[in-house]
Amino acid sequence: MAKEKQFVEQIADIETDFPQWYTDVVLKTKLVDYGPVKGTMVIRPYGYAIWENIQREFDARFKTNGYENAYFPLLIPMSFMTKEAEHVEGFAPEVAVVTHAGGEKLAEPLCVRPTSETIIGTMYGKWVESWRDLPVRMNQWANVMRWEKTTRPFLRTSEFLWQEGHSVFATAEEAEAETQKMLRVYEEFAKNCLCMPVITGRKTEKEKFAGAVATYGMEAMMHDGKSLQSGTTHYLGQNFSKAFDIKFTDKDGAQKYGHTMSFGVSTRLIGAIIMTHGDERGLVLPPPVAPVQVVIVPIAAKKEGVLEACAALKNGLAEAGIRVKLDDSDNSPGWKFNEWEMKGVPLRIELGPRDLEEGHMVCARRDGAEKTFVPLSEAAAGVRRILAEVSENMYEKAKARMESRIVNAQSLEELLRGVDGGNFVRAGWCGCRACEDKVKEFAQATSRVFDQTHTAKTCVTCGKEAVHTVFFARAY
Ligand code: ZN
Repeated sequence: MAKEKQFVEQIADIETDFPQWYTDVVLKTKLVDYGPVKGTMVIRPYGYAIWENIQREFDARFKTNGYENAYFPLLIPMSFMTKEAEHVEGFAPEVAVVTHAGGEKLAEPLCVRPTSETIIGTMYGKWVESWRDLPVRMNQWANVMRWEKTTRPFLRTSEFLWQEGHSVFATAEEAEAETQKMLRVYEEFAKNCLCMPVITGRKTEKEKFAGAVATYGMEAMMHDGKSLQSGTTHYLGQNFSKAFDIKFTDKDGAQKYGHTMSFGVSTRLIGAIIMTHGDERGLVLPPPVAPVQVVIVPIAAKKEGVLEACAALKNGLAEAGIRVKLDDSDNSPGWKFNEWEMKGVPLRIELGPRDLEEGHMVCARRDGAEKTFVPLSEAAAGVRRILAEVSENMYEKAKARMESRIVNAQSLEELLRGVDGGNFVRAGWCGCRACEDKVKEFAQATSRVFDQTHTAKTCVTCGKEAVHTVFFARAY
């Protein structure tokens, strides 16, 4: 038992040292390791399997919404980046540049993509000719590089994996509508696949994507009350179509610039899962994306028939499409319980000689509910029902926490107290940049998204009439 105790104690306390808890969890559950180059991460099989599940779920949704996958080059001529003034200004500090290759200095430096609007815009400029070519909807699954000074696995690394969707429409209305639609796709995914409630809305000028007309974000509340931007959609207007000459001949014969939009989510979502659902014992993974949804732990494995019954159960569940693992290693059951709990497996099944006599299996949910018995004859249906209940419970729990931690503020002092207490703070804002900057300086909090559902009367900073109601929070 001493061994088991030590095992659990390897994770820092989630309440008193959340940053260390996070580091312990991502390393000890083998989601990730540090890469040799500072700021890079190696996504290990257990972490990558989560990403594959995220990809699969998103890919189906994108295709339903008319997107096709394509792949564009990693290297972008520096001159492309400079074509859209705001874009280059925003990304310049983070761009990695290739100056030498093949033993020679390159005639033109190449940047490693921090995002692909410029190269995709260039190609769209070539491909789009007539209104018949519109709309264009493409998605790319790729890696991007943004040179960051302070890095943390999944949350901020110089290289990360993501998807970026890019589309072109004939009119502003269509592009705007698509920007909203894909935000709703993200929100639905967050709820149904990550069991994660989010707040969505438009971002301020200061927080928007460099080169966008408008950026919309989805923000999720982490265990410590800080916000994690978990996905963004951008209405780009004609900024990029003018810079990259995405022109088409309209039905009336006139040459017009297209209206573009883009959207992206990244491996950051794995950080969001960890920090939304994790507890003192480690990871708690949402069933829809968990690499292992069910682990079977044999009890008294040496007794006749136990391992065979466990293997048969495993095969039956796998055939029913459930991601299941049988832990037949020679560790003690207690050890296995701890390990799979730390790894966040949503459901553990215990099966021993007495259970076999009774014709049932013991089901222990990772989200903390009481153990239940399910007849072996209804194993697959029972497991499916329990996993659905786990998903629902995880979402409701996270939602209740988030809702209980949204407070209103009328003054900077109240706002500071709110974020100090680990809350999202709803407050009025006059729309002026100086007042937004002042919030950051005074409370180390930033505007996350506008709140469409409430109307604050006065600006939290200057007291003048409020133009927007904003969610402020400390953010990752
Ligand atoms: Zn103000």
